[in-house]
Amino acid sequence: MELFVSKFGGSSLADAEQFKKVKSIVTSDPRRRFVVPSAPGKRSKGDVKVTDMLYNCYDMLSRGESIDEAFSGIEDRYRSIISDLGLSLSLEEDFVSIKNCFIARAGRDYAASRGEYLNGKVLGEYLGFEFVDAAEVVFFREDGVFDEERTYRVMGERLKNSEGAVIPGFYGSMPNDTIRTFSRGGSDITGSIVARAVGADLCENWTDVDGFLMADPRIIDDPKVIDVITYRELRELSYMGATVLHEDAIFPVRGAGIPINIRNTNHPTARGTMIVPFPQADNVPGAITGIAGKKGFVVVNIEKGMMNQELGFGRKVLWAFEKNGVSFEHLPSGIDTMSVVVEEKHFDERKERILDDICELTNPEHVSVERGLALIAVVGRGMVSAKGTANKIFSAVYESGVNVKMIDQGSSELNIIIGVAEDDFERAMKGIYEKVVGKR
Ligand code: ADP
Ligand code: ASP
Ligand code: MG
Repeated sequence: MELFVSKFGGSSLADAEQFKKVKSIVTSDPRRRFVVPSAPGKRSKGDVKVTDMLYNCYDMLSRGESIDEAFSGIEDRYRSIISDLGLSLSLEEDFVSIKNCFIARAGRDYAASRGEYLNGKVLGEYLGFEFVDAAEVVFFREDGVFDEERTYRVMGERLKNSEGAVIPGFYGSMPNDTIRTFSRGGSDITGSIVARAVGADLCENWTDVDGFLMADPRIIDDPKVIDVITYRELRELSYMGATVLHEDAIFPVRGAGIPINIRNTNHPTARGTMIVPFPQADNVPGAITGIAGKKGFVVVNIEKGMMNQELGFGRKVLWAFEKNGVSFEHLPSGIDTMSVVVEEKHFDERKERILDDICELTNPEHVSVERGLALIAVVGRGMVSAKGTANKIFSAVYESGVNVKMIDQGSSELNIIIGVAEDDFERAMKGIYEKVVGKR
């Protein structure tokens, strides 16, 4: 029989009503044998995710404040799920030992990981599946990088004969047995890791939207669902802000060619989005797959006459960023200018040193820093060679009354990146969506 791994996000497990939906999804198909839960998410708009409550407790302790009240708020989230589901499970001992570990300063990652750990225990009990602690099957190396080889070997062996297991998302263990988490949203990565380790036929990712949408639904009203998308397109979009799936979640499944299916827990009859290794045969070159974007970039412009003829100029500029530990996003360049686009929060930490290093290494005529840049990525296949696609995108931006500050066209023909002022971001996104996608 085929085998599915099903990851459920925080909103899918926010309260007992959501747990009931999850159980009915899991039990409706016997192929769903391995389940990866996130921590309980928001129950309504103003609510707080359990993961954020845990980070908050950690921060309060670091400031020397008491966490009694904040921690009991977390306990209550689980107590009400357990009692509303009528389970006989008790987490009281776990609460005591977790709180003690908090007070003994077990670390920020340990604190954050307890949301998934406790939710995994509740879900395991509710589904009648065994609970497998991620600390025993997901490993990181000494340098903090995910240890693929050890994880797939140990997890594959551990789950080989399991009839049904719940493996909490988001964390694993370090060689010294301390807990480490992936970055925010990282339960998606765990879902893919489990799929790879057990050789699943499908990795399901259940969330609160009907699939991967052509644009962020918080900006565009009711965007279209993408039926099928390739790993590469997905990565471009999720890296650029389409946060529905963690941008690193495709790495574990990519090598094995396991598709990911994004589905809606609140609307399980919708087919969702299939994320596959290769484009479909009927794909039209130049068609736009999706649009994503994010704010918070700066452009550092370096000007020097005849720069294009100065051997090693680009290397020296990039070295100024590299030696200060800041990686760049884009490098749009002219004959006498080179521009480096970087994330504002990283740049600001090292600004003075980077600018001093650029001046010392390249002796430029002029260096300027432009802040408040938002980037928009329009992703599709064969876009650059398809007649008129770029034209349509730029006229849409122009017609929205937005000034384009930067253009970068990926050599892969997969994306066109447009830089606009942060204040123009939403307007430009809407303009592109309405005029390029909405009219198809
Ligand atoms: P989960 O808790 O299930 O992991 P997330 O909150 O991490 O869910 O991701 C789902 C959310 O991602 C959606 O509710 C939506 O607001 C947001 N989102 C941003 N861009 C997109 C997109 N292109 N398609 C779908 N959802 C998107
Ligand atoms: N609970 C974690 C977070 O809020 C991981 C996840 O949801 O995927 O980031
Ligand atoms: Mg998520």
